[in-house]
Amino acid sequence: TAFERTILVTGGAGFIGSNFIFGLERRRPEIRVIDLDLLTYAAHPQIWEAQKAMPGVVPVRGDICDTALVAPLLERFDVTGIIHFAAESHVDNSISNPQGFVRTNVLGTASLLTAAVRVWKKKGVLGSARFHHVSTDEVYGALGPEGFFVESTPYAPSSPYSASKASSDLLVRAFGRTYGLNYTISNCSNNFGPWQHAEKLIPTVIRKALAGEPVPIYGTGANVRDWLWVGDHCRAIESIFFDAAPGETFNVGGHGERGNLEMARSICALLDRLSPRPDGRPYAAQIAFVSDRPGHDFRYAIDPSKIERELGWRPGLTFEQALERTVRWYLGEGRALLSP
Ligand code: NAD
Repeated sequence: TAFERTILVTGGAGFIGSNFIFGLERRRPEIRVIDLDLLTYAAHPQIWEAQKAMPGVVPVRGDICDTALVAPLLERFDVTGIIHFAAESHVDNSISNPQGFVRTNVLGTASLLTAAVRVWKKKGVLGSARFHHVSTDEVYGALGPEGFFVESTPYAPSSPYSASKASSDLLVRAFGRTYGLNYTISNCSNNFGPWQHAEKLIPTVIRKALAGEPVPIYGTGANVRDWLWVGDHCRAIESIFFDAAPGETFNVGGHGERGNLEMARSICALLDRLSPRPDGRPYAAQIAFVSDRPGHDFRYAIDPSKIERELGWRPGLTFEQALERTVRWYLGEGRALLSP
């Protein structure tokens, strides 16, 4: 098959990157994807095997920090776009191992940026080839009960994870200013959906509930997260990567604010309906409070009006539809399809 264009996706065996590749292959089969992934604990071996069999995907196992690997890869496959997902992504792990986060998230991003500029400049495509950085709303720090993050909100990261993501955002912008790299950035709220790592909040609530074990909630469960269906985040990235002007940043969110306790209760209520406990008692009775995460941001909330106005992006699913789909997926429905 002749492909129109080849792009490099980093971290495509992880949660969001794998959903992104499945969506892109469905919507734009003319694009070939090189998936560069180190296959850390966060990657899914089943996804990797499935990608080996996809005609439009070339999975390459390797480290984004490996400068001797990245530039030749861009040259060999004539890559004219990079969508950079690969990161250490779990805030709790960043508290126990901050250095690993600086390595992958800061040095790894610098390695990709350097290779992109070098190769694209040599080929004369520096202005047209694009680097998209997938980032998080956690770079903005914590909100009180009121207000929203906008693209001009000052950076004030609280955890080693968010500080490393803030650093990588700044490096991307500096490569735009210094070398003329054509870049875009998205800062998205908390994602949920198929293939999220088992350690994260929603998979943990489902797994513990079904196992009949205590469902752990940090502190009082009052902390608020802004939740977005992973498929809607992926469509937003696609739209920014293909359609946005160079040097633009977009906040991505769907007004899905929920307190952590409220979220756990909603999941328990869905499980009560879809897979009731053998004794008929509600799953919510298993909720148990555990000591809070240090530096735990109180609230995140995104104002997505820029991406709605400029690119016409809107979430495709309501929060309730997306949560039911997610719970059904973890119960085993639609898993054979890989991406629902
Ligand atoms: P994930 O942890 O599920 O996946 C990360 C992937 O990157 C894994 O497949 C892993 O093997 C790979 N990887 C890690 N280190 C690597 C390295 N050195 N070289 C190559 N590959 C490496 O993460 P995710 O939740 O899918 O997040 C993807 C991106 O989106 C991250 O940059 C994250 O900061 C950002 N983000 C995530 C969320 C969220 O809610 N999960 C929200 C906003 C932004």
